[in-house]
Amino acid sequence: MSTTNDRVVVVGAGVSGLAIARELAPDHDVIVLDKGGIAADTSSRASGMISLSLEPFPDEWATFALSQFRDLDGQGVFSFTERETVRLVPEANADLYTDQAPDGGEFLPRDALKRRFPESFGDLSAYGGGLLYDGTGYLDALDYAMTLKWAAERNGAGIFRDHEVTDIRSKDGTVTGVETEYGVIDADHVVFATGWKTRDLLADHVELPVRPLRWNAVVIEPDNPLPDDCPMGSEPTMRIYWRPTDHGNVLVGGNEHLLDDPEGTPMSVQESFRKGVVEDVAPLLNGAAAGTIRREDCCPTADCASPDGLPIIDTPREVPDGLAVVTGLHGRGVMLSPVTGRAVRSLVTGEEPPFPMTQFRLNRFDNRSTNFDYRSHWGTGEDD
Ligand SMILES: Cc1cc2nc3c(=O)[nH]c(=O)nc-3n(C[C@H](O)[C@H](O)[C@H](O)COP(=O)(O)OP(=O)(O)OC[C@H]3O[C@@H](n4cnc5c(N)ncnc54)[C@H](O)[C@@H]3O)c2cc1C
Repeated sequence: MSTTNDRVVVVGAGVSGLAIARELAPDHDVIVLDKGGIAADTSSRASGMISLSLEPFPDEWATFALSQFRDLDGQGVFSFTERETVRLVPEANADLYTDQAPDGGEFLPRDALKRRFPESFGDLSAYGGGLLYDGTGYLDALDYAMTLKWAAERNGAGIFRDHEVTDIRSKDGTVTGVETEYGVIDADHVVFATGWKTRDLLADHVELPVRPLRWNAVVIEPDNPLPDDCPMGSEPTMRIYWRPTDHGNVLVGGNEHLLDDPEGTPMSVQESFRKGVVEDVAPLLNGAAAGTIRREDCCPTADCASPDGLPIIDTPREVPDGLAVVTGLHGRGVMLSPVTGRAVRSLVTGEEPPFPMTQFRLNRFDNRSTNFDYRSHWGTGEDD
C-alpha cells in the first residue's frame, strides 16, 4: 500500500487516467504519460451521456459517480446538465409497462409523453409511450477531461503528452517504473489506463479478455433549436440514443460493435448508421428530420469491450506488485470515470471505497480468451 508522496505513474491520459490522477494527486507524486494528446483518443469522442441509473451497475457506483459530477459542476470549464431520459417503448410492448416500470422509471403512454414534452417530439406513432427516468444528464467529454487535468495539476500532478510507454520495469516481483521512448521513469506504483491497448501492452504479464469496440455518433442541427427541456432518450430496437446539446442541436449515437482492426477503420460513421439516423431517428424529434448533420464521429482507434460488459479495475495476481490495470470500460468509461478514479485510489492506498469492487476483479473470468461476443447494455433481450 502507498505512503504519502509515493510516485504513481499513470499510463494513458483518457478520462480514466485523468480521473485517477485527480484522485491521487493531493497526496501522491503523480505523473501521467500519454503517447498522443490529452483525451485525444476515445475519450474526446464520447457522447457524454450520463445515464448511470439505467445501466446494470451496483447502485453505489451510480450514486458515487453522480454525486461527483454534481460536485464538479461549475469547476474548471466543466458543466453537468441534469436532464430526464425517455426510453421509447414500441407499441407492441407498451402493455408490459402499464403497471410497473423497471429501474425506478415511470411509464408514460404516448399522449402523456407528448403532453409532458410538448415541443420535443415528432412522429411517435410507432410507440406506445416511453419510460421516463431522472438522475440522468450530459456533459461535454473534452471539457470534462480538461477539467480533470486542471484539477490534478492544481494538486501537483505532471501530465505529459507524446510520451509513449513501451514496457514496465520490475525487480523481485515488484514494479519499479516504466520504460518510455525517452528513457526510464521510476515509480512506486504504475497504473495502465490505456483502453483496449492494455491487452497488448501487458501481454507478457497477464492475459486480459478485452476487445476493441466501435461506436458511431452524429450531431444534427434541427430546423429549429430543440427546447430547453428536451429529454435525452433511446430507441432500444435500433439501439440508438440521443441527447440535446447546449445549442439546441441533438447528438445521436449508437450502433456499437466489436472490431478486429481499429487502426484500419475509417474515421467516418458507417453509412448504415447515418441512414438509420436520418430515416428512423430524426423523425422522432421535432424539426430534426428537416435538419442538417453538422458533425460525425466514431472513435479513431476504439473503446474497449469486456465479456460481461463491466470494466476490469484490478491489481491482478499475475502482474508485479504495484501494477494496476484499468480496461474494458465498454462504452461507459465517462460515466464510470469517478468510480474508476476512486477504485484505483483504493487499490493504491488500501482505503475502503464507498462501493463494491468485486465486479471489477479480473479473476471473475475463468476464460480469458478474446473470442467472445458483444454484450449489449441495451436491455432489449436480444444480446443480453
Ligand atoms: C462515439 C462514442 C460515444 C461514446 N459515448 C459515451 C457516453 O455517452 N458515455 C460514456 O460514459 N462513455 C461513452 N463512450 C465510451 C468512452 O468514451 C470510453 O469508455 C472512455 O473514453 C474510455 O476512456 P479511457 O481513458 O479508459 O480510454 P482512452 O480514452 O482510450 O484512453 C487511453 C489512452 O491511453 C493512451 N495510450 C495507449 N497506449 C499508450 C502507451 N503505450 N503509452 C502511453 N499512452 C498510451 C492513448 O493514447 C489514450 O489517450 C463513447 C465512446 C465513443 C467512441
